[in-house]
Amino acid sequence: MKVGKIVTVEYKGGTEIDAEIVRVYCPACCEEFIGTKRNAGGFIAGHEAYHNHENSMDTLITSMGGQ
Ligand SMILES: [Zn+2]
Repeated sequence: MKVGKIVTVEYKGGTEIDAEIVRVYCPACCEEFIGTKRNAGGFIAGHEAYHNHENSMDTLITSMGGQ
């Protein structure tokens, strides 16, 4: 997949027409993703949810006296 490329992608639930391939990265862990904006949104939302979860677990462990 090439960044900036315009593609049409078919999914089970519909077709994404003239979708631009973008490159995004997660500011929390620096993982990168290349794909359509729709999927990039999923990547970002997924990482956000994951890191929030991770942070809340850290806070929980710290509050119980662990590290
Ligand atoms: Zn991340």
